[in-house]
Amino acid sequence: GQPITQGGLRIHDLSFGYDPARPVLHHIDVSIPAGSLVGIVGHTGSGKSTLLSLLLRFYSAQQGRIEVDGQPLHAVPDAAFRDAVGLVPQEPFLMSASVHDNIAMGRPGISEAQVQAAARAARAHDFIEALPQGYATRLGEGGARVSTGQRQLIAMARALAGSPRILFLDEATSNIDSATERQVSEALAALHGRVTVVAIAHRLSTIRAADQILVLNHGRLQEQGTHEKL
Ligand code: ATP
Ligand code: MG
Repeated sequence: GQPITQGGLRIHDLSFGYDPARPVLHHIDVSIPAGSLVGIVGHTGSGKSTLLSLLLRFYSAQQGRIEVDGQPLHAVPDAAFRDAVGLVPQEPFLMSASVHDNIAMGRPGISEAQVQAAARAARAHDFIEALPQGYATRLGEGGARVSTGQRQLIAMARALAGSPRILFLDEATSNIDSATERQVSEALAALHGRVTVVAIAHRLSTIRAADQILVLNHGRLQEQGTHEKL
């Protein structure tokens, strides 16, 4: 397999069930051009996170296939896949360490400037600067309190520090304040043309800049369109 250079994704007739006898995704067909922004919406249990898990190779589909840059997703070597793909999980994990170390996690040798550039790209820089010790502020157990939305911005900075070709985001379900939600939205929009973004959103406003919005309903692709059309 080849490394991921562009980050274009194609999903062909994908069906999947954790229990193969009970599919939770049915015949999904989607084309995601490199550098585009795709939003996924749908009621709870509709299969949004499951679709993301398949794109992240956590599972393999029982039917259909996923391609990246024209080759099977599973053909990409593990190290190349990790290099090319970033994830902002629904419940980001923060270490009890400084904000800086949380963003630099797993990337020894990353510079202060790179950490701050990633934080700016994630629209996290301003709130970090406002913390008692800025980037040196400790997080996690016994550390500074940050909201769920702010955890997601830190997780986004962490993901962007790796310069991914593809970024997956599973927006936190719990009440994200509207200022943070706008920062997430702006950060996603700013990646347009450079990073392929697949973002699960609970509000359409988070993905207002999306090229395509997928509406999942009971594991089926019910609608596909832009913010204006839906
Ligand atoms: P939410 O908006 O609540 O996050 P979702 O759209 O992300 O929901 P999924 O988590 O993809 O929904 O769940 C789709 C279906 O698969 C649900 O019926 C769920 O119970 C089931 N499911 C999810 N994860 C697992 C798992 N690890 N093992 C078995 N079943 C699962
Ligand atoms: Mg989910």
